[in-house]
Amino acid sequence: MLYLAVLITANLLLFALLKKFLDGRMAAAADLAVKSGEYEGLLKENKRLRAASADSQNELDGIIALYDITKEICKSLDADKVFSYFKDVLNKYIKAADCRLLKGNSGLADYSGYAIFPLSIQDELIGRLAVRGLKEEDRERFQILSRQFLLGIKRAILYEGVQMLSIIDSLTGVFNRRYYLERFREELERSERFNYVFSCLMVDLDYFKTFNDRYGHIVGDAILREVSKTIQENIRQVDLLGRFGGEEFSIILSETDKEAALFAAERIRRAIGERRIRVYDEELKVTVSIGVSTYPADSKEIEKLIDAADGALYRAKQAGRNKVCV
Ligand code: GH3
Ligand code: MG
Ligand code: MG
Repeated sequence: MLYLAVLITANLLLFALLKKFLDGRMAAAADLAVKSGEYEGLLKENKRLRAASADSQNELDGIIALYDITKEICKSLDADKVFSYFKDVLNKYIKAADCRLLKGNSGLADYSGYAIFPLSIQDELIGRLAVRGLKEEDRERFQILSRQFLLGIKRAILYEGVQMLSIIDSLTGVFNRRYYLERFREELERSERFNYVFSCLMVDLDYFKTFNDRYGHIVGDAILREVSKTIQENIRQVDLLGRFGGEEFSIILSETDKEAALFAAERIRRAIGERRIRVYDEELKVTVSIGVSTYPADSKEIEKLIDAADGALYRAKQAGRNKVCV
């Protein structure tokens, strides 16, 4: 009996111990399950972060590459050089058979096999890129590159504009006095070196004050523009025309002796005198007087050459205007 009681107690004890052990193991297993869930979550998060980091890196690489390209394309302020750098970059990233820059609004007749990309600055078409052999998958990349090119060309155009502002007279579009004198000096040095002759003309409008008084300054300005245009039409590309003062123009006729200069001056005087300048309902006629001096016969110095031409101009005025004097 005692033996049986001991046996039962031992079994109960054993059972209790076993239960406790199993409960412990089950709790540990449940704990493990939670932990393993957490672990998987962390793994997933890790993977996601890695992917995001790779994306950021790619994006950063893209931005750096684009920045480098822009830097590369924009390293010159000369429009033709900007295009040449752009073509170098293009060859590196995209294999297109041919890429041309069509300036301004030039025709497209010769570019039938080309894809055309217009380039505009503030709604003004400044040119087009014509590309042949551009693959469909490269189209978007080409467009991104062409936008970088547009930045470069914009800088070049702005710079050109600023350059022009500093050398061109805004009313007449001819060289201003400062730049004209600079070129005069160059012409003198060139003629000295190569033993060339050249002539200097001083042109002054006759009775211009009366035009201003009668028709107003706006009309006076229009007359000045017409006169400078007429002079330009009657000299060669190699000659220099500058607005020397209010209604005074100066011209350098390069490699031109006194006789030929007199001939050219007469042609200019006649052309201006014959031109009808339409203002409102009236047709105006203006005349000019011209003085001529020649290098090296009259002088070898700029100031004296100008003085000599001025002296001749004064004589032309004295002689009744609408005349040429040497
Ligand atoms: P002359 O035949 O002796 O040369 O007589 P002129 O009236 O042409 O000469 P003057 O020097 O007395 O007058 C020059 C005039 O040119 C005076 C000025 O009002 C005018 N003028 C100078 N610059 C400008 C300009 O930019 N626009 C206009 N509209 N007039 C100008
Ligand atoms: Mg004058
Ligand atoms: Mg005058």
